[in-house]
Amino acid sequence: MVELLMYRLWIHIAFAFIAAAPWLACQTPPPMQQSGPDWQLTPSPFLIKDSSLYDYFDIGPQGIRMYASPLNKQMGIVECQVFPSEYEAFRQLMGQLPPDSMLSFYLAKRHRPLTELTDTLWKVKHTGFYYGQHVGMPLLGLRVALDPGHVALDMQEAELEGKYVKMRPSPQTHNQAIAFNEANLTLATAHLLREELEKMGAEVLLSRTEPGKGAAGLSYREWKATALESTLAEEMAAGRMSETDASWWRSQAREVDLYRRLFTPWDLRKRAEKINAFRPHLTLIIHYNIHSPNWEKRDAQGFFTPTGANYCMAFVPGSFLRGELETAENRMVFLRLLLTDHIEQSIALTSYFIKSSTRLTGVPIVSRQHQLSYLHNACIPTRIRGVYARNLTLTHLISGPLCYGESLCQDNIVEARALNDKDFDIAGMPAPSRIQDVARAYLRAVIRFARDISLPTAPAPENAYLR
Ligand SMILES: [Zn+2]
Repeated sequence: MVELLMYRLWIHIAFAFIAAAPWLACQTPPPMQQSGPDWQLTPSPFLIKDSSLYDYFDIGPQGIRMYASPLNKQMGIVECQVFPSEYEAFRQLMGQLPPDSMLSFYLAKRHRPLTELTDTLWKVKHTGFYYGQHVGMPLLGLRVALDPGHVALDMQEAELEGKYVKMRPSPQTHNQAIAFNEANLTLATAHLLREELEKMGAEVLLSRTEPGKGAAGLSYREWKATALESTLAEEMAAGRMSETDASWWRSQAREVDLYRRLFTPWDLRKRAEKINAFRPHLTLIIHYNIHSPNWEKRDAQGFFTPTGANYCMAFVPGSFLRGELETAENRMVFLRLLLTDHIEQSIALTSYFIKSSTRLTGVPIVSRQHQLSYLHNACIPTRIRGVYARNLTLTHLISGPLCYGESLCQDNIVEARALNDKDFDIAGMPAPSRIQDVARAYLRAVIRFARDISLPTAPAPENAYLR
């Protein structure tokens, strides 16, 4: 508690100082900083998908310079410069400040050196986590954020959301009608996983806890009735929407667009804010997949044909595409991924997930024969089979190690029958026991990763802050 208060106080003082600092008004760049030994920082091979992004930054003896546009780079107009001697301070700051504060900081810094005061700010440390210090509760002190994908409560909403499976009775379905939605599967999985993690001592945050409600505690209908206006105001204030767009959303948008293109992105931002405020040691983003070529084959009423395809895959941050450095927020996230080891840590965590997932669910890793265009167009394969860098809203906005899992294909005939079968209860929700295998796979990954970050090679106790 004291630590938290100190942390808030430091943020407050630091920003007050930044706002008032005379050097902010000064237009003359300060003398070049001495280059540190580690200026030769190379971007992760999983960060950049499109070479046009090199027009937004450079790295040299003077550190990393970010530019707001390719033209600004040509003209030498720097948006934010981090000197080599500041790399470590920036890494720490980016792990500690909420992204909106970090964005203000990023935009205020420009090419001026960090002050002594902000230098003190980054020395405020997290409490370290060490696996197995308490008998019977090996995860005591570990903070785990769980994000159960999607929101819809029932089939009607799930069809609007576009995250459901339904099949007509046929010999393949054993003459049963099949109907379920992904949001309830992911939520039940998260509750199950939370129980297991808490038994081992971990502190767990669920980004949403109730069926049908998103991260702000609102269902889609409640959001539409009470929060549509404030959402439009937020979007306009952040520069992501014009007044003309806002009036289109108010009067002309179709229900399906309101759900998928306004409510969903808003809810994802709320999830990221909640998770970042919790400052987790790791985050698991829980999803179940659909074999995308099969999605296209649904009939006019939206019924699926069962498929034989089934595979698992998982995503980590990275793979910025053309056009994805056009906003200051995106450039700030890019800088975080340049400077920190969040991509590598996420690959480590996710490699454990893929391993335990194939072992505990029996579902194989996705392969080329599945011919999924998004893996080719939007992702960069990492050195771990089935683990791809992908710049999704949450892999982008959530700071720290994360695993975005897609354990199996819900429209696979065997899985669809199993997932339709609600044969146990968790947190008051009827659920299929098949998800227990999936929850176990995530749990194994957390335990393996928690052990890794406690090894002697991890930072010494006084630096045990985990990004
Ligand atoms: Zn999903």
